[in-house]
Amino acid sequence: MNQDKVKTMEIKEHRQLMILGGGPAGFTAALYAARADLNPLLVTGMTLYGQASQTNCIENYPGFPDGVEGSVLGQRLDEQAKRFGTEIIYDLVQCVDLQQRPFKVCLSSGYYTADSLIISMGADARKLGVPGEREYTGRGVSFCATCDGAFYKDKDIHMIGGGDSALEEALFLTRFARSVTIIHRRDQLRAGAILENRAKNNPKISFIWDSVVKEIIGVDTVSQLKLENVKTGHQELIPTDGVFISIGHVPNTSVLDGQLKLTEYGTIEIDAHMESNVKGVFAAGEIADPLYRQVVTSAGMGAAAAISATKYLSTF
Ligand code: NAP
Repeated sequence: MNQDKVKTMEIKEHRQLMILGGGPAGFTAALYAARADLNPLLVTGMTLYGQASQTNCIENYPGFPDGVEGSVLGQRLDEQAKRFGTEIIYDLVQCVDLQQRPFKVCLSSGYYTADSLIISMGADARKLGVPGEREYTGRGVSFCATCDGAFYKDKDIHMIGGGDSALEEALFLTRFARSVTIIHRRDQLRAGAILENRAKNNPKISFIWDSVVKEIIGVDTVSQLKLENVKTGHQELIPTDGVFISIGHVPNTSVLDGQLKLTEYGTIEIDAHMESNVKGVFAAGEIADPLYRQVVTSAGMGAAAAISATKYLSTF
């Protein structure tokens, strides 16, 4: 962490509890902490309401039998957390200092100190890391079907990945596209049976198995993909109007600068009380969850982290 930078920053204020990250985990933590009279300060981060906000329809969040749009669920969590006294800052966490107490959190507007932290900064879309991916992002390469799907009306597009997200997004894209071809590196999907059946029964969806993208090619926008069959090594160029990449997520831990112990999956290591290896620092949601990564489990982790933080703060 850049101590020199913090020295030149203005201290804004001290809080009992700060929550870093405004997805379902962060907002649920805020709700519980606010109801425990901790007057929490929540820093939203870049993607308000987290990855869930980019989901067109969440069908497995309890209490919504017809599904709920991710952004709508986010707004409801926001309203509920505010109603009980959560304060929200729409800013990015730039650095944290967990070496001294109170902990320091710097934002672009200045730095705050806090007795306890709940870290719920989620995870970012994993990249393929092939030539053309970065160059054509926003020009035919997308990581969010909900955001960009409407640009592909009557187009022939490709989806990379074989998990629940890839299939859910591919199904959503069939509303706009003429065809959606799912490219998966194995010959079996990772996705669950319901989505697999829906995708396989959708006339607009087809599959290319055992194949990886080696290069994304275009001029102004994407026009071709170079594929390699992982079993035969055969390479081919296929035409495309656009490519969506949905191959999982990487936990957003870089701002922690090695100050918390991580698991082999890159998530923050937490105990059964959601506490990290630094006392008073808790974590919730995808940044600390290598296993379940559901909106409902993230919300549950947020609630548990807030209950633990409340207990921790009662000893002050
Ligand atoms: P995921 O389950 O980790 O799946 C990632 C997919 O991308 C896998 O098929 C993986 O292939 C593939 N992949 C990873 N790295 C790759 C690479 N470098 N090149 C090509 N392919 C690559 O991630 P997710 O689909 O984002 O889902 C995350 C979690 O959210 C999961 O727990 C999922 O169940 C949950 N989720 C649930 C729902 C729902 O229930 N409706 C919807 C969305 C997400 P391999 O299979 O070969 O590893």
